[in-house]
Amino acid sequence: MIHTQGLRYQYPRGPSLVFADVQVPQGATLVLRGNSGSGKSTWLALVAGLLSATAGSLTVADSDPGALAQSARDAWRARTLGFLPQKLHLSEALNVRQNLNLVYFAAGLPVDPAAVTKALDALGVADLAARKPSQLSGGQAQRVALARAVLLKPRVILADEPTASLDDASAEAALQLLASSAQQCDATLVIATHDRRVGETLGGAVEHRIGAA
Ligand code: ADP
Ligand code: MG
Repeated sequence: MIHTQGLRYQYPRGPSLVFADVQVPQGATLVLRGNSGSGKSTWLALVAGLLSATAGSLTVADSDPGALAQSARDAWRARTLGFLPQKLHLSEALNVRQNLNLVYFAAGLPVDPAAVTKALDALGVADLAARKPSQLSGGQAQRVALARAVLLKPRVILADEPTASLDDASAEAALQLLASSAQQCDATLVIATHDRRVGETLGGAVEHRIGAA
């Protein structure tokens, strides 16, 4: 679940953003809409505890990330959230399997090779485990990043513009994968997007618009 109240964020040398209140029950899907520059990525960063709100309150899977000390917040994020960022941030120094192993290090847990195989397999990319990220197509890289995001069965999955560079068929497939992955761990799913195609695919999603229409 995600609840926000009176959330604001002021960039030190940038705009002051004011966000309308959001309430998403556990396991539900939220489509966060808004034009480019309206604050979608900022909102995701606040929910992920990557930025601290200037004002307002926030509850994400029963915790307020802003109230946690830095190390507790990083541990909380690693165990609670799955993040599918717009830039996938796969390490080119590591192969696909090793990129997923990093999730365990971040969470302070022992690597579970069988779980890594299972997560890659569920997204149809197990045979790519030994490749470097640069040896993947865009769609394959996104599947790897999604496998990484759901590896620890997070309570909340945040996806930033997951369809931005995809054709219609790939966008549809990516959304179905996100939705089914979230369903499998009963995670709350947030998809930040300015893509009109999102929503046609996702029945029953809550829609929330930020910024001016
Ligand atoms: P969106 O994801 O909807 O495109 P963002 O959350 O990235 O929007 O940005 C919201 C606003 O904050 C924009 O006006 C953007 O220029 C500004 N912004 C984003 N990051 C920074 C930053 N690090 N410093 C200053 N301003 C920023
Ligand atoms: Mg953005």
